[in-house]
Amino acid sequence: MSFSSLNLDDRLLSGLITAGYETATPIQMAAIPALLSGKDVMAGAQTGTGKTAAFALPILHQLLAIREQNPLASDEIQPLRALVLVPTRELAQQVYKSFVKYGDDSGLTSAIAYGGVSINSQVNALTEGVDILVATPGRLLDLMHKGAVSLSKLQFLVFDEADRMLDMGFIIDIQRILKHVPRDRQTMLFSATFNEEIFTLSKNILKDPELIEV
Ligand code: AMP
Repeated sequence: MSFSSLNLDDRLLSGLITAGYETATPIQMAAIPALLSGKDVMAGAQTGTGKTAAFALPILHQLLAIREQNPLASDEIQPLRALVLVPTRELAQQVYKSFVKYGDDSGLTSAIAYGGVSINSQVNALTEGVDILVATPGRLLDLMHKGAVSLSKLQFLVFDEADRMLDMGFIIDIQRILKHVPRDRQTMLFSATFNEEIFTLSKNILKDPELIEV
């Protein structure tokens, strides 16, 4: 299936042409229409399937529409609208780069936050205001405690590689973060494997999700 039949914003299609993508992968074909219709998604997908674009493109598309409906006043700081939680610095870097690549023509802004490095540049990037943040859970909590980021206007929440996040013991951090996220939001959970713990998490965070297995 070509990307043009998925009804994505033209400003995203030009980024895909630059990236050399011709057809959507199976996870993209299944997840993009579900997410554009506003549904929550629970997807089983390994790395290498194109899962990042499967959530990044619908988020960017919807953020463009939100920006058109509610343009920021000149003195207003961009509130954070999308948060992608990931288990590791490496995945954070990959996902962040994907948002930058796919959103190249969109004017939307992204930031990245992970532990093990100085927090100051991450604080500075966030206090300027961004649309999208890709973060590991522990560092996100540190940034929230410093007042560098608020999740009160969040509309899109992604759990990427949820099984690895739980394996690494992030459930307490995730529960703390969830207390600050609005109930009215779109949530997507991507995981290579499923077990009881993932199903328990999914029941707490997803509303009537579309289940996708590729
Ligand atoms: P991911 O599973 O998201 O880590 O993506 C795996 C790789 O596939 C990345 O290098 C992407 O740039 C690439 N990719 C994602 N979607 C497509 C597509 N529709 N066509 C070609 N390559 C893609």
